[in-house]
Amino acid sequence: MSSVLGNWSAPITGVDVAELQRVIESFDHRCQYCGFQTYLTAQVPLGHFHVVVRDKRLHSEPANWVPLCDMCVDFNQLDLLEGKGMFIEAPWISQGRLNNVVRTCYAMTLSSGTEWGDMAQAADRLLRAIDCPPKQWSEMDWKGEPNILQEVLEKAPYAFPKSAYLSKLRVRLDRAPYEEAIRYWINPIERSWFASEYASNSGTTQSR
Ligand SMILES: [Zn+2]
Repeated sequence: MSSVLGNWSAPITGVDVAELQRVIESFDHRCQYCGFQTYLTAQVPLGHFHVVVRDKRLHSEPANWVPLCDMCVDFNQLDLLEGKGMFIEAPWISQGRLNNVVRTCYAMTLSSGTEWGDMAQAADRLLRAIDCPPKQWSEMDWKGEPNILQEVLEKAPYAFPKSAYLSKLRVRLDRAPYEEAIRYWINPIERSWFASEYASNSGTTQSR
């Protein structure tokens, strides 16, 4: 199927929370698909992360377990993405990076603080700009819904090379299904954004 899809299993259940926390901690609290880093609290012991078997063909044992964030965990099956986002044509960015970009944009639009300043407006414009379905899609009556991708590809005209085309597609997740997680993540999102801003600014200063 599409290159956006991973090979991992469904989230592991029936295991002690402490054991799942150990897996998340052993990966430095980082999602193994998008690299986003969270922290865990008593109220939200898994930090809106899940633990999965990294390859569903492998045996489910702690050595094969990895953490994934709420925004990435469903990327192992197209039908799980139904109602959570739309396909866009975006070969210039990996799916993991795109998840980080939209997460940061959504955090800006949800954050009540003023730290973001003009960035919040820029985030809104960026989100609208990446939602530009190509003209051929409307001819095929497709807005990018994940559940009908297969159907769309089957009836696609010959000018729509299927396998090559799949590698250009990404899913732009919606805000609503992840709003609770993103609200929880606002602090780590802000911290990583401002840390990288600081790093790039100080890098420029040093090179002068
Ligand atoms: Zn992730």
